[in-house]
Amino acid sequence: MLAAVYHGPGDLRLEDVPVLTAGPGEILIRVKAASICGTDLRILHGDHRKYPPATVRIPGHEVVGDIADLGEGVEGFVPGQMVFIAPNMGCGHCRQCISGNNNRCANYDAIGITVEG
Ligand SMILES: [Zn+2]
Ligand SMILES: [Zn+2]
Repeated sequence: MLAAVYHGPGDLRLEDVPVLTAGPGEILIRVKAASICGTDLRILHGDHRKYPPATVRIPGHEVVGDIADLGEGVEGFVPGQMVFIAPNMGCGHCRQCISGNNNRCANYDAIGITVEG
């Protein structure tokens, strides 16, 4: 599949990358549309702390698409179902996460930020 891959500040390359598979508890989304937000611009300009020097990663977290693959143990979704993502994944245990502010978790992960977008 084609993906825009970040290689450094101002260096975004369109590359052919392997299609991922959904691991346990994961859903693989076939992206139908994606947009760019201020966070993506900070990443592209090299100003995002989760993209330190030498980071090579697929950014992008403002997406909508349909479910291409369901990982083991996923319930409540069906292949082909249209979905969007809430990209922030907090630890689920700290004060910020418990109060619903997982984007402020000190140990967060986020699609397109700390994992492939
Ligand atoms: Zn965003
Ligand atoms: Zn947390």
